[in-house]
Amino acid sequence: SAPFDPRDPLGIDELLSPEDLAIRDTVRGWAADRILPSIADWYERGELPGIHELTRELGALGALGMSLDGYGCAGASAIQYGLACLELEAADSGIRSLVSVQGSLAMYAIHRYGSEEQKQRWLPSMAAGETIGCFGLTEPDHGSDPAGMRTYAKRDGSDWVLTGRKMWITNGSVAGVAVVWAQTDDGIRGFAVPTGTPGFSAPEIKHKWSLRASVTSELVLDEVRLPADAVLPGVTGIKGPLSCLSHARYGIVWGAMGAARASFESALDYARTREQFGRPIGGFQLTQAKLADMAVELHKGILLAHHLGLRMDRGRLRPEQVSFGKLNNVREAIDICRTARTILGANGISLEYPVMRHATNLESVLTYEGTVEMHQLVLGKALTGLDAFR
Ligand code: FAD
Repeated sequence: SAPFDPRDPLGIDELLSPEDLAIRDTVRGWAADRILPSIADWYERGELPGIHELTRELGALGALGMSLDGYGCAGASAIQYGLACLELEAADSGIRSLVSVQGSLAMYAIHRYGSEEQKQRWLPSMAAGETIGCFGLTEPDHGSDPAGMRTYAKRDGSDWVLTGRKMWITNGSVAGVAVVWAQTDDGIRGFAVPTGTPGFSAPEIKHKWSLRASVTSELVLDEVRLPADAVLPGVTGIKGPLSCLSHARYGIVWGAMGAARASFESALDYARTREQFGRPIGGFQLTQAKLADMAVELHKGILLAHHLGLRMDRGRLRPEQVSFGKLNNVREAIDICRTARTILGANGISLEYPVMRHATNLESVLTYEGTVEMHQLVLGKALTGLDAFR
């Protein structure tokens, strides 16, 4: 039988095609070259310097709008997109967030609900990383319940005039186009807003203790006047933004396992070499119990992500199944990172090691794209048929 591989104890790699493995290795190599040498410094400074250059490089890798077809997108499988998310988040959740928001939120919304002109205008330059996109749904007073949003788009002749505020918007200050969701007389609609439009501003949110190497912004819309063709024609109602979130959450199901893998591997290496009481701490049963439990949850999580990927590629993935994956994998990933932190002792709190950075990043990942509680309620409703949201 095949030898036991501590990095792949269940032999999950055998489920992947040579092309899947090649894509994974390419993304892993890029992250090792471009992110890992600098990420601790960026994190400490609370910046993502060179974000435009990095985004163009991610475009050249085919990682932006990776699973979309046409318009310069790679047309990759869901599994391949997931593997890329995992590798990027193994470097840092901030980089994976940049890619998720660009591809699965902003580009996905335009690709699915935009007009042909909107797709031609935005998607090729977004796929190439020339234009960064953001996705404005959350507001200061409306997070888990976005349907109550107050941002409003009113008609003025054939124009639209947008007024309101969005909060916690990834990529906001660096975006060239903002996909903004707003109430209209006919219900919630999406708008592709060029960020240079008068009345639009995106002040960056500072003082974050999580996702520090990621741009997070407020969007201020002060009577932003847009032509009639700025509205995404393909959808009305909250189902528009929710369908985009479901796509992005799928990437997070994989991505969270990247943060967990990096922390697990850091703890495993440390446990083999760090000695106390005259022997490696990995030789103590209590440490082994931690490592065994971490490995079990890590590889179960990757298997779950792979299962959901197969369903997505077959067009069979339901939003409740994405909730299942997001709920489990982010919750387990943060647990793995926190346990890894204990194995590293005092070194666990240092930026010299990745575990605390991953653990604090995952606090955001636990909250955005639907909190743990929202996904429990989604599953609770699906299981019981009873709606407990309100
Ligand atoms: P609230 O909705 O106020 O929730 C607070 C707490 O109450 C949570 O624990 C929640 O689960 C709980 N709660 C709420 N309702 C119920 C209920 N019915 N039953 C039980 N518990 C309940 N948004 C975007 O639109 N675009 C982005 O790009 C984006 N990027 C982000 C980046 C970062 C770093 C962060 C932190 C957030 C980002 N968000 C973004 C916002 C994110 O999606 C919201 O923070 C999230 O939806 C939760 O909303 P909230 O923070 O207002 O919390």
